[in-house]
Amino acid sequence: MTILKGTIRYGRQEIGYEAFFAQRKTMEIAVHPDGSVVVKAPLGTPKEAIEERLCKRARWVIKQLDFFRQFAPKTPPRQYVSGETHLYLGRRYRLKVHQGEKESVKLTRGILYVTLVSADSPEKVKRLLSDWYRARAEEKFKESVTRCLANLRKLGYSEPELKIRHMKTRWGSLSPRGTLTLNPDLIKAPRDCIEYVITHELCHLKYKHHGPEFYQLLERVMPDWQKRKHKLELALI
Ligand SMILES: [Zn+2]
Repeated sequence: MTILKGTIRYGRQEIGYEAFFAQRKTMEIAVHPDGSVVVKAPLGTPKEAIEERLCKRARWVIKQLDFFRQFAPKTPPRQYVSGETHLYLGRRYRLKVHQGEKESVKLTRGILYVTLVSADSPEKVKRLLSDWYRARAEEKFKESVTRCLANLRKLGYSEPELKIRHMKTRWGSLSPRGTLTLNPDLIKAPRDCIEYVITHELCHLKYKHHGPEFYQLLERVMPDWQKRKHKLELALI
């Protein structure tokens, strides 16, 4: 299998890509949740032709990569006041801010209650909510990793170290040493989408690249991954 790696320039942006050659008639470009751009090309396609195609599709690729910007126009900026909705595990919850004796965030009966000790302060609500999302992410991601790993157990991999960190253009990544990093904002997506991102990264424990073997493995452990990927792209509005 031949792998070609390169970078194209589009405006001020650089887009790195991996290309694979196979017995096929057309070129196909895919963007993964870990920010990788993968081209499948017919055997013998020259590098120039691949890069020309990538340049033509660059706007789409950037849109896929920059998911925050992709969703931003549809998302009114949150004000952190009662009445607006916030996402958690793919569902929308109405925010209710009130005063009480102790600061807290609680999700009960479809309502996200934020209790403040002082008078209304959107800044404070924002911080409390962000801490809450992070704590939920830590718990839920851990459960999901364990569940996803069960499908890959036959490969003999043990649970990777899990880190949660904001990343600008990716949902997840896997370091060469096998540390799995997940974006805390992923906790806003439905669970099956979270598990898709995790499973994609876990498959990199076996294959670092996005070649045919990688897809075969992903397909085997998660046959509906494409559906989940698509759902993720539409989820965070
Ligand atoms: Zn990947």
